[in-house]
Amino acid sequence: MTEQFEAMPSDWTRALAIVAHPDDLEYGSAAAISRWTSEGREVFYLLVTRGEAGIDTVPPGQAAALRESEQRAGAAVVGVTSVDFLDHRDGVIEYGPALRRELTREIRRRRPELLITLNHHDTWDGRTSWNTPDHRAVGRAVLDAAADAGNRWIFPELAAEGFTPWNGVRWVAVNGSPHPTHAVDVSDHLERAVRSLLAHRTYIEALTDRKPEEYCRALVSQATSEASARFGGRPAVCFELFPR
Ligand SMILES: [Zn+2]
Repeated sequence: MTEQFEAMPSDWTRALAIVAHPDDLEYGSAAAISRWTSEGREVFYLLVTRGEAGIDTVPPGQAAALRESEQRAGAAVVGVTSVDFLDHRDGVIEYGPALRRELTREIRRRRPELLITLNHHDTWDGRTSWNTPDHRAVGRAVLDAAADAGNRWIFPELAAEGFTPWNGVRWVAVNGSPHPTHAVDVSDHLERAVRSLLAHRTYIEALTDRKPEEYCRALVSQATSEASARFGGRPAVCFELFPR
């Protein structure tokens, strides 16, 4: 029998979701985030790029503003009103101390107990489905910055800016990982997840010939039913959880 997922922790009040691109959260985590905000938890979004290289038919100069506004709309649907963007160029995010410093600053600003990010592994399936460099760079930097945020000596210049250490991150939850361990029941949040993904309408229209709503509905339903097989048959969003 396939091993069952453990339930995601629920003894927390503040989460910060950090991903590379607009839509990275809507393709997976949004249903879970919808549930968490409806329970009165606070969730902040931080996007490392504006995803301006994501639409083949729209040049980056135009796509950036468009995708930013679609991201804000998608966040609002699941109860997230705080959406920040770092100004990295889409497609060429570099992993390293500079990125870790920027993420550390934002973690110290928001002081979350839970960090949410997207798959940092080389592949999506643990085999041959290659991940993108931006996801790998951001995911790894989030895992690292969870600890950097609590260490006053790693980026001492941040404390001088007023961002004092925050050692309160208790978990990093990685969505889209080939090795998920935990899940959250999203039975009552599928509709909001669909509408949240649908907010990325320009992106989706360029991506598929299917009707956008049909495409989003099928995608959310497939993703949450795959996880349900390992979570008591309930529609679920799953994460690889790294406790600290
Ligand atoms: Zn992405």
